[in-house]
Amino acid sequence: MSELNLILLGPPGAGKGTQATLLTEDFGLPHVSTGDMLRAARDAGSELGLAAKEYMDKGELVPDAVVIGLILERLADDDARDGFLLDGFPRTIEQAGALGQQLEGHERRLTAVLLLEAPDELVVQRISGRRICRKEGHVYHVDFDPPKHPGHCDIDGSELEQRDDDREDTVRNRLDVYHAQTEPLIAYYEERGLLRRFDGTRSPRQVHERIRATLATLRLEEDL
Ligand code: ADP
Ligand code: ADP
Repeated sequence: MSELNLILLGPPGAGKGTQATLLTEDFGLPHVSTGDMLRAARDAGSELGLAAKEYMDKGELVPDAVVIGLILERLADDDARDGFLLDGFPRTIEQAGALGQQLEGHERRLTAVLLLEAPDELVVQRISGRRICRKEGHVYHVDFDPPKHPGHCDIDGSELEQRDDDREDTVRNRLDVYHAQTEPLIAYYEERGLLRRFDGTRSPRQVHERIRATLATLRLEEDL
């Protein structure tokens, strides 16, 4: 079978991380999340991480040069050679261009860009209730997807916390940044015939099923 090279696109809180977890289980793809990578670098106190923290705390994008370097290096790792699922990258046209060039240079191409659509008010509600586990970043929601034992991760038992940048004023700024800098990618990928839209207001399971159906069709078309 041909490789699956996928991008999850959508506003903060649309459910990209949640779908990524489900899809990586289905297809055994490495889940490459720039947010997770930047948070790990920040927590490790590396120079890159500390520089990134200033932008993340304000809800701004980390500069393209930093993020592009990080991702292109990651995609060259052995486990990403046969397919990947990008979550949170690209977020600017420049990032998309750099990714496209790198793939082309290796005679690889994107399979699809999965856009999760959800209105601002809904994503604000989702983000304000989001909790993530300290150890692995597993995602919960206080109302929509509560853990079995309050405050603790079902999977590894570690404590759940709220991300600093998930407070409401920062979320509003992240949404403005999304509309201004990331939304142009919708037209960019539409023009290239890669965009697939999904109604992100549905339940995680419904969204997941739609994505699976779309990917099954795409693979059939490729194999014909
Ligand atoms: P993103 O990675 O796009 O920022 P997440 O997957 O982290 O989004 O989801 C944001 C919050 O909304 C989390 O608390 C998650 O549990 C919850 N969530 C995700 N998908 C759904 C959904 N389809 N319906 C309701 N809540 C959801
Ligand atoms: P969410 O899924 O809620 O949008 P992420 O975890 O993807 O959040 O990103 C958190 C923060 O990390 C962003 O607000 C931004 O500061 C930084 N970041 C993540 N991905 C990128 C990227 N591709 N380009 C620039 N900054 C990024």
